[in-house]
Amino acid sequence: MKKEHDIRIDRSKLHPWLDQKLTVLLRKCAKKGIYLIITEGFRSKEYQDSLYAQGRTKPGKIVTNAKGSTYSSQHMWGVAFDIAINDSKLLYDAATIRKVAVIAKGIGLGWGGDWKSIVDTPHFYLPKWGSTTSQLKALYGTPEKFKRTWKKTVEREKGALLWKASSKKTGSHCRIPKGAVVEVLYSKDWYTKVRYKNKVGYVNKKFVA
Ligand SMILES: [Zn+2]
Repeated sequence: MKKEHDIRIDRSKLHPWLDQKLTVLLRKCAKKGIYLIITEGFRSKEYQDSLYAQGRTKPGKIVTNAKGSTYSSQHMWGVAFDIAINDSKLLYDAATIRKVAVIAKGIGLGWGGDWKSIVDTPHFYLPKWGSTTSQLKALYGTPEKFKRTWKKTVEREKGALLWKASSKKTGSHCRIPKGAVVEVLYSKDWYTKVRYKNKVGYVNKKFVA
């Protein structure tokens, strides 16, 4: 097995929370001596349509049941990525992928291997909106509108402290200045969990919009 991960996707097109979980997953897998290929991430409507055509109007075998225009693939919403094992002998080895799934579920990712209808073991996703795209479609309509929620701007005159923990007990990383853009992981209680300059922390949700 090669001792490095092979990232073949544009990570900036993943939801920031998923991207953050991917960072953690890669670190934890490496610790266990498992190295991944990240084969698929965000898919545009056009790309999804070309995948849908495969095995139908184009040669190859069927790889998806989601047409681009229906926004029914989690990949189109930036909330999923696919993996393989970075070892030609183990590429889609079920036992190794299951080990990855255990780690992934431990850090709050959903796994396509748990699906009942189409079992999709290389597929991992952010489960906040369920295991399908129906909630995302109902809440946001289109991936473009959803993406607008991934970033917020610090609006408070004095800026906003980036706390290391939601308890504030361990102090702050830095003060984020007014006008700075942060990547939104999620909001809860008093805070929004954000990523700013590669640091992950908590800002008062009243200070960002
Ligand atoms: Zn997938």
